[in-house]
Amino acid sequence: MTVGPALMARLDDFARHSADWPALTRLYLTREHRAAADQLLAWMREAGMAAHLDAAGTVVGRYEGTTPGLPALLLGSHIDTVRNAGKYDGNLGVLAAVAAVAELNRRGERLPYAIEVLGFGDEEGVRFPVTLTGSRAVAGTIAPDAVAARDRDGIALGDALAEFGGDPDGLGTVARDPAAVLGFVEVHIEQGPVLESRRLPLGIVTAINGASRYAVTVTGQAGHAGTVPMALRHDPLAAAAEMVLAVETAGGAEPDLVATVGRIEAKPGAVNVVPGQATFTIDLRSPRDDSRKAAAAGLLDTLAAIAARRGVALDIQPTHDAPAAHCHPGLMRQLGQAVARAGIIPHHLPSGAGHDAMALAALCPMAMLFVRCAGGVSHNPAESITVEDADLAVTVLLDFLRHFEPVPLAEGPRP
Ligand SMILES: [Zn+2]
Repeated sequence: MTVGPALMARLDDFARHSADWPALTRLYLTREHRAAADQLLAWMREAGMAAHLDAAGTVVGRYEGTTPGLPALLLGSHIDTVRNAGKYDGNLGVLAAVAAVAELNRRGERLPYAIEVLGFGDEEGVRFPVTLTGSRAVAGTIAPDAVAARDRDGIALGDALAEFGGDPDGLGTVARDPAAVLGFVEVHIEQGPVLESRRLPLGIVTAINGASRYAVTVTGQAGHAGTVPMALRHDPLAAAAEMVLAVETAGGAEPDLVATVGRIEAKPGAVNVVPGQATFTIDLRSPRDDSRKAAAAGLLDTLAAIAARRGVALDIQPTHDAPAAHCHPGLMRQLGQAVARAGIIPHHLPSGAGHDAMALAALCPMAMLFVRCAGGVSHNPAESITVEDADLAVTVLLDFLRHFEPVPLAEGPRP
């Protein structure tokens, strides 16, 4: 083990750039984000990279290949966090990439392509009602009105970006020419318990799940809890309870499909009143869009049948629909080979959470390497990885870089 302890020390050090240290809160375009960006710029330069801040506030470091100006393989993740975050979500992927380049630089190694490490600033989407601002700018897919988004203090993203040192009018210039980019590879903690349960330190991501969300309203008849006989009730909350179980059943019916009711509410919400209305949410995710859509259609039919049988009215509004982003088969294969050369069984798994790689998929071949995290816990100060796993992540990434061969975009993404 060589780089693990230094990487872990760096991650600890980096976590001090926080609005509420010793807790970690680092929102997009805040003073602490700028301090972290400055630290990252310094570490990139120390690792032999030319580094700058782009117009969207992304920290960009470039390590030239055997000759200057070659197309680049992009690495990295995000350096913004949620409130009261863990140290590893996002930050691990950026600092592991810097550590891999530092190792190349230390040995004077140049590869037949350039490497760029990107530290995106807005993956979590906590401060402004937009997300993936940095990665979408690089991919050339940023919405023109993103700069008009305001935080809860009324500050516009464009104004915060200008103060940060970015360029709200220059977001279009950040978009990369696909011909100059070989791909994007993101190292990230798993944020789930699968690798830990399989006793594997690393995993190869197959796709970032697509998602469908719905807002469901069930309307029945409110009444006195003491006087309305059971047989005469049209209780929307009892109907919703049956529907929640149907959602759970739908999620369990297909491998890799997950279905969740995260919020439920009854009105009027009194101990002695049969509710008149119940509202709840559905979140469905899968790496396969066809199976997600089929499951959603089947589920909506089931809910309609429950409503009809119980004599309650049902209204279902779609609130979100995003397709899955598929990892490139050629990059997955090369990551799998690097994992196998490290003596680890290559395990493939979908990502249930969103990532910057999702945005980069619009630009170039994309892949992700997951690192085991304790208990699958993330977005929490208890987020934790081992020094051995951190070391392995850099070792495998470095080995992948040394063996990397460009893949044709046409090979993927899979249908
Ligand atoms: Zn993340």
